[in-house]
Amino acid sequence: MGLNAILLPKAIVLSMLAPACILPPAALATAFIWKIPRAFELQRIVLIVGMFFILLSVALVGVNAGGEFYERHLTIMLFVAITAIIIFAIPLVWTTMIAVMALGLYLFFQMYNPNVELGSSEAATLFFASGIVATVVARRTMTILAQKTFLLELRDKSRVAELADANARLELLARTDPLTGIANRRWMMEMLNRLWSGDSQPTEGIAMLMCDIDHFKLLNDSLGHGEGDRCLVKVAGIIQSSMRGNRDRVSRYGGEEFLIVLPGVNEEEAIAVAERIREGVETASLPNPASGMSSCVTVSIGVVYIPHINTASPEQLQNRADKALYIAKQSGRNRVVLYKASSPNA
Ligand code: GH3
Ligand code: MG
Ligand code: MG
Repeated sequence: MGLNAILLPKAIVLSMLAPACILPPAALATAFIWKIPRAFELQRIVLIVGMFFILLSVALVGVNAGGEFYERHLTIMLFVAITAIIIFAIPLVWTTMIAVMALGLYLFFQMYNPNVELGSSEAATLFFASGIVATVVARRTMTILAQKTFLLELRDKSRVAELADANARLELLARTDPLTGIANRRWMMEMLNRLWSGDSQPTEGIAMLMCDIDHFKLLNDSLGHGEGDRCLVKVAGIIQSSMRGNRDRVSRYGGEEFLIVLPGVNEEEAIAVAERIREGVETASLPNPASGMSSCVTVSIGVVYIPHINTASPEQLQNRADKALYIAKQSGRNRVVLYKASSPNA
């Protein structure tokens, strides 16, 4: 329309001016109401009314100019309607309303077009109607495809989340001892590797405690395997409650053996933690009537301490803790023994 003003003779431009003035306010009002989130119904009314005035404006520009411009602007009006149908992702009813409105205006003004026969205007309307119907169908297909894509993306996202959840649960199961609920040996080995490879927090002194239930076989034999299992669960609980905050690590190492790692301790603290476990088990008074040394469950603990992580490997520490435990067993059980390089059997 702007080009018309530049290219066409002044008289024609002036005849186009009045109807062209309807277009900017109608377009601005439609765009303004459409952009701001409002009630669905209001948007529909504004869009339909706005589009009506926009189409009417384009048609009247041609009608007023007359001659070759008459039909040309009616065709332009149909293109405006097609553009609106493509741009606005709206329900099919609204799209159809815009299409019907454009074709209605086209037919109406063509019937009064002095240069065109009535039959010819009807034929042209039918011709353009087929094009507009194809556009409406294409728009509808685009909308359905967009909705389907959206739903598929949602389903994929929820599947990915389910999978991540299942993986997390599997990982937890793979690291947990099913009887006691504490970490298993595999997890402890991974943790030690991480600690030694420097992936975890840096640590100075580190201690390892190998804790073994005394005469556990006799408990099983006298009270049964079920009672033995309950005893293991309770001892695991006592060990865990004896830890210092969440840096200490507890695991079930084997049948009735627990491996504990205390990062960032000194020797006295390590022995104090081990004593706390030993006393905790003793005062819990869990029955072990067949044990020759006490009628209650007791534990022996081998402790090894190194002032710096680089001074021994995890395997060396486990061996030393085992040796200290052996000495504890040999020297009467229900005790804590600290590994010393000079100890017998060391
Ligand atoms: P010590 O004081 O020298 O450690 O003697 P102990 O009887 O505790 O040691 P031993 O190695 O002879 O026996 C350990 C027993 O622990 C044998 C095994 O049947 C039992 N055990 C291992 N795992 C489980 C378990 O998951 N549940 C039960 N109830 N018993 C278990
Ligand atoms: Mg034992
Ligand atoms: Mg044992």
